[in-house]
Amino acid sequence: MRTELLLDSEDREHKAPRRLVILGATGSIGRSTADVIEGAGGAFSVEAIAGGRDGKALAIMARRLGARFAAVSDPAAYDDLKEGLAGTGIKAAAGPESVTQAALFASDLVVAAISGAAGVEPTHAALAAGRNVALANKECLVCAGDLFMRTAAAAGTRILPMDSEYNAIFQALGTSRVDEVEEMILTASGGPFRTWSAQDIAAATPEQALAHPNWSMGPKVTIDSASLMNKGLELIEAHHIFGIPAAKLGVLVHPQSIVHGLVTFADGSVTAGMACPDMKVPIAHCLGYPARVTTAARRLDLAAIAALTFERPDLGRFPALRVAMAALQQGGSMPTVLNAANEVAVEFFLAGRIGFMDIARAVEQCCETALRQNDSATPDTVAQALAIDHISRERTRAALS
Ligand code: MG
Repeated sequence: MRTELLLDSEDREHKAPRRLVILGATGSIGRSTADVIEGAGGAFSVEAIAGGRDGKALAIMARRLGARFAAVSDPAAYDDLKEGLAGTGIKAAAGPESVTQAALFASDLVVAAISGAAGVEPTHAALAAGRNVALANKECLVCAGDLFMRTAAAAGTRILPMDSEYNAIFQALGTSRVDEVEEMILTASGGPFRTWSAQDIAAATPEQALAHPNWSMGPKVTIDSASLMNKGLELIEAHHIFGIPAAKLGVLVHPQSIVHGLVTFADGSVTAGMACPDMKVPIAHCLGYPARVTTAARRLDLAAIAALTFERPDLGRFPALRVAMAALQQGGSMPTVLNAANEVAVEFFLAGRIGFMDIARAVEQCCETALRQNDSATPDTVAQALAIDHISRERTRAALS
């Protein structure tokens, strides 16, 4: 465990409401965050929120949470936001720079839940400015993990893992040091295709891929769960946030989604992080950390569940996980390339333009092209990471069109 992950113990005594900024307030994580805040009876005050292109929804969220500032990334959504906030005194702004402005509002914790590469810049700005960040955006650590960890260390800020798997590992790790860890395992539900044949998976439709058995999430992450790419991205994140070597990271398929992460220690002890599959649990853990926040999340009834089962992932039927593990081993810019190619390939799949198995194929091809062209240096700045992201998207689009 890196010391920058630990909040000061006096924070536990902190009685004033913890001031929050929520980036990505109208998405799936943003809405669950709002539920947790409302259930926590005045423990939090929301200073600023930001959203993507739905001005109306963002205005409703700003009113609901009593934010002081609401920023929408798409300038075309400004009128809806402004109109929705009329008479409230809540300030409205639009454009990507207004999202960064929201990120830099004085706060104790920034919830970074914008999905996609759009979340990288504002989240990095918040960290660099000394804000603690509860990280739900995958791209920050996948595209620019070395940079984010370096920035957090330099600014003396903390990145709290706001995803079920690595939050479970964070809790399982407790106060142990990473060099006392033998293995960290992230679990995957296996998604809707866990028991399907390779042939059936290849013929799967977007509707079938979007029917996740356990979790309700946005479409991009749901497709990534079906391909197991999501688990590959989480391995990359875990590598950075815990400073654990790739060789000590593993994946188990666990269809019940009750155990989210496991840590095996040098003495043979294994600690599991468990909860019902509900994002409110990791969200509440990060918002209140190190104190506990009461939530309405369903409680775990192990006797009712009766059996927890585990399987090794099948890298033949789920090649996206193999491709992601290779990118993690290669390091440098390969995770950035992988992530960008995957986003484009998932778009093409959702639009019905390619088959499900073509996603991993396209991603692997884009990674191979980058390696051949010697495009594999580690990005040192957000601009470099975004440039690699951009080139990889263009290459994948060209290859798939
Ligand atoms: Mg997850």
